[in-house]
Amino acid sequence: MGFSGRTALVTGATAGIGRAVAAQLAREGAEVIVHGRDPERGDAVVGEIEAAGGTARFVQADLGDPEGVLRLAEQAGDADILVNNAGVYKFHSTAEMTTELFDLQMNLNTKAPYLLVRELAPRMAARGHGSIVNISTVAASLTTSGSGIYAASKAALEQLTQIWAAEYAQQGVRVNTVAPGPIRTPGTAADETMLKAIADGMTAMGRVGEPEEVAEAVTFLASDRAGYITGAVLEVGGGRPALA
Ligand code: NAP
Repeated sequence: MGFSGRTALVTGATAGIGRAVAAQLAREGAEVIVHGRDPERGDAVVGEIEAAGGTARFVQADLGDPEGVLRLAEQAGDADILVNNAGVYKFHSTAEMTTELFDLQMNLNTKAPYLLVRELAPRMAARGHGSIVNISTVAASLTTSGSGIYAASKAALEQLTQIWAAEYAQQGVRVNTVAPGPIRTPGTAADETMLKAIADGMTAMGRVGEPEEVAEAVTFLASDRAGYITGAVLEVGGGRPALA
């Protein structure tokens, strides 16, 4: 994939999809900055990458706090690849959604990627190359009960992806979205029954996806092989079922 000599920042890389993305980018030769909040999990991911012959380091930051986001941007230095993966999903109807959970989802899913792009994309542009992949969700373009502010926070991210793609297209920086369907991760594992029900009802394949399957798409879009692709949304969601 030609990642040799490239540095990749993967947010939320201590678990689930981010962890699989970090491992795959490292396997393809990138030096990976593993971001998360939990240093033990961060060290474990770095250890796995190094044991497989890759290079990685852990950076801790709470992305719910703008100061944390700016600190991460500072420590990530001149990343060539940015994967905005860290996110939170809290499914409640509008009547049941608390102000705190509203803020958490908008801060983590929309504001943190915005601030990271604001800080890192100009540096990529100055070097004449860069690739940004934002992790959204198929829920951003579906009418799913209880997904209100989560879906809206990711729909905003998809809209921003297209705006960033246009802003940076002439400066060698590509910006794309990967929108996963139901994926088995620590974040979703707590309710296997619900995960399976979502997979049955909302995917044509009728199965839950694996983090590595999302990582394949992210790795491709991050690479020079996707050199003519920017502003795209690539769904990794097992296909959409036909309406009866
Ligand atoms: P997960 O298993 O819950 O892992 C979340 C990751 O985000 C962890 O590395 C966690 O780090 C980090 N994180 C959470 N809160 C944070 C905060 N306040 N500050 C910094 N980091 C934070 O998540 P996942 O299921 O892999 O989902 C990853 C992304 O894919 C999310 O954006 C999600 O919306 C999207 N997605 C997931 C699915 C799915 O079915 N799993 C489907 C569609 C889209 P620490 O544990 O170290 O704090």
